[in-house]
Amino acid sequence: MNDPAYHYDGPLGAELTEDGRTVFRLWSPVARWVKVLLYRSDTTDEIFRICPMARTEEGVWECEFPTLLVNVYYQFEVNVDGETYVTGDPQAKACGANSARSMVVDLSTTDPEGWDRDKAPARGTEDIIYEVHVKEFSWDSAGGFPEEWRGKYMAFTCPNTSLNGEGRVPTGVAYLKWLGVTHIQLMPVFDYGSVNETGRQEAFNWGYDPVNYNVPEGSYATDPHDGNVRIRELKSAVMALHKAGFRVIMDVVYNHSFSLDGPLQWTVPWYFYRVTEDGGISNGSACGNDTASERYMCGRFILESVLYWAEEYHMDGFRFDLMGLHDVGLMNRIRLSLNEWFGPGEKLIYGEPWRAGDTAFENQAISADKGHVLDLAPGIGIFCDDTRDALKGSVFEAADTGYVNGKPGMEQEIARGVRAWSGAAEGGSRLYADNPDRIITYVTAHDNHTLWDKLKVTTKERSLRVRQNRLAAAICLTSQGRPFMLSGEEFLRTKNGIDNAYRSPIAINRLDWQRAYAERDMADYYRGLIALRKRLPAFYDKSDAAPGRIHLVETDRGIVCFLADNRGGEGPWPELLVIYNANDHPVSDTIPEGRWQVLADGTDSWRWKGQGTERRMECATLTVAPVSAMVLGRVPE
Ligand code: CA
Repeated sequence: MNDPAYHYDGPLGAELTEDGRTVFRLWSPVARWVKVLLYRSDTTDEIFRICPMARTEEGVWECEFPTLLVNVYYQFEVNVDGETYVTGDPQAKACGANSARSMVVDLSTTDPEGWDRDKAPARGTEDIIYEVHVKEFSWDSAGGFPEEWRGKYMAFTCPNTSLNGEGRVPTGVAYLKWLGVTHIQLMPVFDYGSVNETGRQEAFNWGYDPVNYNVPEGSYATDPHDGNVRIRELKSAVMALHKAGFRVIMDVVYNHSFSLDGPLQWTVPWYFYRVTEDGGISNGSACGNDTASERYMCGRFILESVLYWAEEYHMDGFRFDLMGLHDVGLMNRIRLSLNEWFGPGEKLIYGEPWRAGDTAFENQAISADKGHVLDLAPGIGIFCDDTRDALKGSVFEAADTGYVNGKPGMEQEIARGVRAWSGAAEGGSRLYADNPDRIITYVTAHDNHTLWDKLKVTTKERSLRVRQNRLAAAICLTSQGRPFMLSGEEFLRTKNGIDNAYRSPIAINRLDWQRAYAERDMADYYRGLIALRKRLPAFYDKSDAAPGRIHLVETDRGIVCFLADNRGGEGPWPELLVIYNANDHPVSDTIPEGRWQVLADGTDSWRWKGQGTERRMECATLTVAPVSAMVLGRVPE
């Protein structure tokens, strides 16, 4: 199978031809015979046609029907090594309920009204990424979503939802607009296996267990049986988010499959998955298997899938789960292909630069992990666990603390995070990224404790936790890199202390829209920082020159203080002075000569909006409250 003679670049899957035929193609050099089975429904057992497929030279099996079999369900029956498997098509673009039967789809009929005019909004000065799960987003009945769309793709098409439907407090998409984030990262929306699509509505999983990599998940659709519906509804969600001013990023999990009992394995056993030298199953994903991205046809499969989602669903970016399980070569081909198709950097790419365990790479493939950032093509970013853990403690030890919640000696780490671990450190040694474009700056994502739950473990007093939370937010939003946040982080989201809620009840995972209202002070603090950041090139600059904008003044005694060259933006402040104080007491210091305006402090992130001289100070001593940040802008003379 690794013989280049079997490297195939032609079409696969079900093709509807312009002259009215339907052609099925499956790549399986090892099969003795393959048949295609046709069904009229995704639930009844009745097969209405069985057709043997013919083998071509590259190991592709093909069969053709003289009519358009639109909306017909199909499976392949594959005989390999004396075993016969009945399986869906690994290349399926549509399927029936619960993944088993693929469906022939005419994609042109799945476009919602207006899709041909759908266009992503122009990007502003900064991308602020907000991580959302489709079901979590709209499950809470207090969110005011239409009952039949709660937990569904279609909830994103409601631009004006409000708390309890009272028309007063925005929820859903209207809330996201209020908050000011720019990119919505959808947790996995391709078909996964852990939720029964025809079972109870409240069934929940994060969805990191893909089955059909090119089909939307059915449990988020209003009808999981008709393969057209989930496609149309996901497209509707993307279009509505675009219309509301957001770009959409897709969380893609190509590193493993829900189960080895699946289409990739059944059609070509052990080709698409890594095997260890002693014949064991490679399990660097800790989910039972690892796909073999470095193998030709597997790499092709992943690359084409990414391009498909970008083209057919207008996805604006991709977040790669466990990117460290992929090889650098594949990631770079994906980056370059997206650049070629859509323009350089138009589609964002970033991923988790790690694995959950060892993996059995072949052919000296280089892992797309943190140690190989500089081998990745420009425009591939990584989640920065160093800043994340420096801020609030290790994600693996609940009681561990970080800079904001009491660990001493973290000043240097925080200062490196301010420069997004980029450029040259003081003293000349290289940090690990070449520029802040590489770095996703964040403090929490869906994994591990929410920020609030983590702070609850480490800090007893609630009012102190609130200050710690604000300081963490202020540091993230006044550090370079591309800011990212877990949905609800800004309203003290809690999962009741559960640090791995991937299959916890929806009641634990859902966004609590009453809490969003109750904790709107914190959300408003984030909101002000987000709005401010969009005006501060000192932080949003992603160029190689960006780290040079930061000039450290102090990194000691729990204080990180720096001056930042802020020229080049629309704001009136050519220079910034930023002080983080992690101490439980206020600190005072003189500030550099000149006139300074307080832009944000530990409780008010909107001070920059204030008018008049009463908010400006001249050559004064500055006092920074305990566990808080302060941002000042120099006012030109
Ligand atoms: Ca599914």
